[in-house]
Amino acid sequence: MLKRLLLVRGSELVMFALLAIIPLFVQSGYALGLLTLLAIYGILLIGLDVTVGYLGQVNLAQAAFLGIGAYAAGIGVTRYGIGIFTAVLVAAAICTLLGALLALPALRLDGPQFALATLSFTALTTIVLNELEPLTMGAQGLSLSRPPLLGRTLTSRDFYWLCMGFLALVWMGMRNLLSSQWGRAFEALRDSPIATDAMGVGAYRHKVAGFALGSALGGVAGALYAFNFQYLQPHAFVYELTVILLLGVVLGGRKSLWGAFVGASLVALLPNLLSSKTLFQAFSAAGFAMALFAGVRGLSQKSLKPFQAISPIVATATLLVGSMVVKNTEDWRKAIFALMLFSVVVGLPEGLMGFATGFLARLFRVDPPPLPPPAPLDEVLPSRPADGEVLLEIRDLKRWFGGVKAVDGVTLRVRSGHIHGLIGPNGSGKSTVVNVVSGLYTPTEGTMLLRGEPLPIGSLFRAARAGVARTFQNLQLFTGMTALENVMVALRGVYRVPLPLVLLGFGRGEERRAQAEALALLAFVGLEGQARAPAKDLTYGAQRFLEMARALARRPEVLILDEPAAGLAHPDVVKQVEIIRRIRQRGITVVLIEHHMDVVTELCDVVTALDGGKMIAEGTPAEVKRHPKVIEAYLGSEAPGDADTHPLAPEPAGG
Ligand code: ADP
Ligand code: MG
Repeated sequence: MLKRLLLVRGSELVMFALLAIIPLFVQSGYALGLLTLLAIYGILLIGLDVTVGYLGQVNLAQAAFLGIGAYAAGIGVTRYGIGIFTAVLVAAAICTLLGALLALPALRLDGPQFALATLSFTALTTIVLNELEPLTMGAQGLSLSRPPLLGRTLTSRDFYWLCMGFLALVWMGMRNLLSSQWGRAFEALRDSPIATDAMGVGAYRHKVAGFALGSALGGVAGALYAFNFQYLQPHAFVYELTVILLLGVVLGGRKSLWGAFVGASLVALLPNLLSSKTLFQAFSAAGFAMALFAGVRGLSQKSLKPFQAISPIVATATLLVGSMVVKNTEDWRKAIFALMLFSVVVGLPEGLMGFATGFLARLFRVDPPPLPPPAPLDEVLPSRPADGEVLLEIRDLKRWFGGVKAVDGVTLRVRSGHIHGLIGPNGSGKSTVVNVVSGLYTPTEGTMLLRGEPLPIGSLFRAARAGVARTFQNLQLFTGMTALENVMVALRGVYRVPLPLVLLGFGRGEERRAQAEALALLAFVGLEGQARAPAKDLTYGAQRFLEMARALARRPEVLILDEPAAGLAHPDVVKQVEIIRRIRQRGITVVLIEHHMDVVTELCDVVTALDGGKMIAEGTPAEVKRHPKVIEAYLGSEAPGDADTHPLAPEPAGG
């Protein structure tokens, strides 16, 4: 406990303490100016890391938000005489708003298109700042003076402390946010936006909120930037800066506050340090040593491919030789960026901090905080009385894909407390029914009711909120997260603390509660021992069970399982059957798509059989199994020898 506190929090405290006392020893205004810039870029890059690191989007708009924040503060001070804190707030508010406005359309786009949309926003911003002369003074530039704070004129030392204070606040707030449900949602939507929506978390709204938050931090940095330089020109915020900021995040290491800080130091300090030839050479030598070390280490541990180890060594060696021969380092200092970026992208995909933490973590093993005991199952998954009334009703549902009538008039009445089986040969439309009911697809025609109320149409998120939970035929786990976090993302009704309080660190209580509930659900599916294992490291069977636990975290009215036993070895099929049986015992209604007929017979109260998108039979498992149309459908469609997926086949080998 103490060790963890010292190592994890201690390093942050030591860093901020050191930064705080620097001005007592460093008198040079130039050095202090650089360090102030470090604080400002720190805030800027922490903001950028939200989109680039956590949301995994190439965001080229951060320089624009720096500019907008700077001009908002500058204009506010010169025209309206506002104070420093008001200016920071105004800048943050304007950037939040513009960030959200940009994100709403842009985040509907993917990859390169999103990057281009943000790039054009940056271009537009510089043009507007240039042309809006009455307000911004255009290319001539806007001069402002730093307003006094609480009646006191700020010296450059005071202003440095102020900026560091802001950095510390932002750091704390972001750490609290990223270790809360918000941070998990950001990570989840990067791994699987579909599952994020299907777990009722809302991928799109979290993306927009994350982008707006990152932009707001850009605005805060911008306001401080304005008070630092006290002179603004639009061309300071062009796309070149945007690219350099992106480099900073990637070099430093994504998804890490320390990474953003390291990136900020590189971006803020390096160009100035490198104008001295000695420092340029020292830096090149250090880069070469680092590439050599990382390369040899990576090769011996087989974590790097040969080219990943060798190209950074070659690149940094070139740099080192270059630093010896070139006369004027001033002209070459941008080359160091280019070669460093190349080396890091190739050789250290996790960035400098990612490399360092992986390394440090092994040196000082810090155990994660112990987990709370699991919550009582009755609180997490209260048994509900099953009344046998119709819970989910689907009438004449159709879904066509062009000419393919995947679902062509299906009517289902699923009764509360039942396990309702859905069978049919491959391609008969079972998954499409699930995808329409759960909101992944919009129906072409038809009615869907849950307890007599229309189900939301064409929105995984809203269907999930209405009480439908599902698993996926092809697993959709949040692979980068632990088993526990996978379940925690989906938990319903636990996260109540509003965002401002989460930023201040008041979300910890409900975090413990969420952990306890998620643990109970993991225990329910027999995974309590693997809570801390990354989902991608679980066995295939365990991954299927984890998806069930995650869907149960929604406390759904209806749980739709799309071939939960597909690909499982026999012992795991037995476990799966047992889990589904216990789900029914808790009063949760289940729609079960299943190929193993023995499983269907064992579990289902009612079975509906589909073929070619149409219903061909309905009844008890025994009735449906004997139905001539069902027999014909299976005999007609399955390749001979495909016994494993044949519902009428005897149990597969091994049982
Ligand atoms: P099942 O789950 O019963 O094996 P599906 O519902 O996955 O069957 O598929 C039914 C039919 O619909 C198949 O012919 C499939 O090719 C088609 N289909 C399913 N999804 C799509 C889609 N997104 N686009 C085009 N065709 C689709
Ligand atoms: Mg299917």
